[in-house]
Amino acid sequence: MPKTNDLRPNTRIGYGFDSHEFRPGIPLKIGGITLPHDKGLGGHSDGDVLLHAITDALLGAIAAPDIGALFPPSDPKWKGADSVIFLREALKRVRDAGYRLANVDASLILAAPKIGPRAAEIRTHVAEMLGVAADCVGLKAKTPEGLNLENAAIAHVVLLLEKAPRATKAAGKRTTKKKRGRAV
Ligand SMILES: [Zn+2]
Repeated sequence: MPKTNDLRPNTRIGYGFDSHEFRPGIPLKIGGITLPHDKGLGGHSDGDVLLHAITDALLGAIAAPDIGALFPPSDPKWKGADSVIFLREALKRVRDAGYRLANVDASLILAAPKIGPRAAEIRTHVAEMLGVAADCVGLKAKTPEGLNLENAAIAHVVLLLEKAPRATKAAGKRTTKKKRGRAV
């Protein structure tokens, strides 16, 4: 009999969306990087719209509760919090579910500041936080043409999880266990 875990799909897709309003006098953080700008993103925690969308995509891929359920904006504990905390929790849940991240693709939509000059830096930083190579993180920045959304930042994220190899805790030795008969 195959173990129940073996019935899990080999890959799972995740999708995340987030938006925040620009407000004067607070720092602008996108993808964990502080960008020079006269306004930042208000709302939940540090307002890092990209990390929030990635977090929700990770959680969604394993059908876990979403970021708002795990870290309620009504809880003062999360006011101004570093969004990396949310990302780490989502990654932990992905690992506990037996998956690892294959790749991420994100679209950022905002009128200003221009993301292009910092895009490589943001990608590298996000990849490090996620524990994947930089070429496994796609990042496109677009302006909100025709959307009348000059005072908002929006992020859409899709990502793919793949089943993690078994027996990672035993650092090798146990991975040689023979398979019996049945094709997998
Ligand atoms: Zn958010």
